Amino acid sequence: MIEKWPPSYDATYIPKNDDPFWNRKLETMDPLEREETIIVPKLQAQLRYAYRNSPFYRNKWDAAGIRPEDIQSLSDFEKIPFVTKNEIREDQLKHPPFGSNLCISKDEIASVHGTSGTTGKPTAFGISQGDMERIAEAHARIMWGFGMRPDDTVFIGSFFSLYMGSWGALLGVRRLGAAAFPFGAGVPGQTERAIQWIQEIKPTVFYGTPSYSLYLAEKARGMGVDPGKDFNFRILFFSGEPGAGVPATKKRIEETYDGICIDSGSTAEMTPWMTDGECEHRKGMHLWQDIVYGELVSAETGRRVPYETEGVTVYTHLERTSQPMIRFWAGDISMWTLESCPCGRTYPRLPRGVYGRADDMFVVRGENVYPSAIENAIRSIDGFGDEFRIVITREKTMDELIVQAEPIPGTDNASTLKLEKKLETALKTKGLRTLVQMQRPGTLERTEFKARRIIDQRDLYDEMTKG
Ligand SMILES: [Zn+2]
Repeated sequence: MIEKWPPSYDATYIPKNDDPFWNRKLETMDPLEREETIIVPKLQAQLRYAYRNSPFYRNKWDAAGIRPEDIQSLSDFEKIPFVTKNEIREDQLKHPPFGSNLCISKDEIASVHGTSGTTGKPTAFGISQGDMERIAEAHARIMWGFGMRPDDTVFIGSFFSLYMGSWGALLGVRRLGAAAFPFGAGVPGQTERAIQWIQEIKPTVFYGTPSYSLYLAEKARGMGVDPGKDFNFRILFFSGEPGAGVPATKKRIEETYDGICIDSGSTAEMTPWMTDGECEHRKGMHLWQDIVYGELVSAETGRRVPYETEGVTVYTHLERTSQPMIRFWAGDISMWTLESCPCGRTYPRLPRGVYGRADDMFVVRGENVYPSAIENAIRSIDGFGDEFRIVITREKTMDELIVQAEPIPGTDNASTLKLEKKLETALKTKGLRTLVQMQRPGTLERTEFKARRIIDQRDLYDEMTKG
């Protein structure tokens, strides 16, 4: 049993500036001891709370014949059925707008957010004030771990809309006591204005998507501004895309800005989404298990996989009172390890980041292909621009994998041809037979948000032949 759930935190607490930890005890304790004394008790309280307040879970667990009191350990916990995005969406359709998992009364909602809804109906989030405070606390703690301090100024270069990324970052920045510079993104001309403002205000920390940071750098160079010299970013942290965990992209961002590139982010549903978050040593995202409990499970058996093995991400809130997610099937693919990190934190890590989404992965000629593998190949070769596309077509019955990329501006024809061959060879050594098509610099569409780089045209072919 624990004294109090949900926990409440002292909102005035700030560690000493030179302390590398926000909470040394929790962050460095023996992993087994953490499981037994912190995670399991918090989990039991979260399960009891959900069973009592959420018709969604009560029905689901009753149907599975499970009661919260049956869960005495993390291995018992594997009996709890997964929750999928689709289930949440369907439940919200039946019980609009927040679904039968709200757990709080409507007048206790402090903030309304949602998914972008690019695929299907958006999901609505109604978040309580207490949860907002705990999100702020969690994010501040993780930001502290990658080196952010109260004297930093944080440029937030992402949409301020229903998108939880920007707001989650802002909450953490405020709790940590740093200066927020919530610039936003997505308005025509805003990137050019950002470049001017950044030179004046000299923010020290950047937040956005990896794609946007590279786009901003490209624009800056076009305006005669060197993002490494004329800007002052020492930390750039990211979510929303896997790029910051792709080694060659990480290196490119660090070289471009002369700052460290921090990968973070699980999913909007799991906010505090930063509980997948790197420390300043950038050895892969730590799973901050005492805030959100993360698991990697086998897609086939649904069982938790051993460390050093690949699996699909599943997450569980341990301190959410509004719309808690319990064994939420996030669908990202990663590998985890419990090997020590130079920072001294004893949380498991995802040393290769999240390198695929179960639904982003595509199969070409029977091979599993992750877009991040292609991204890594492109960024490992000098001379390529930052944007690329993956096009999958079907000629007769044969799948064709086409990679479109650009040389950096000013590259002559002979060098462009060399780049094309180099990339084809690099992909071939990864077992990918691809056709590389070089495009003129600047022709592939840029994005200020999450890039959509995979174009699968095989359905078109199937429809044509059916028709
Ligand atoms: Zn670490």
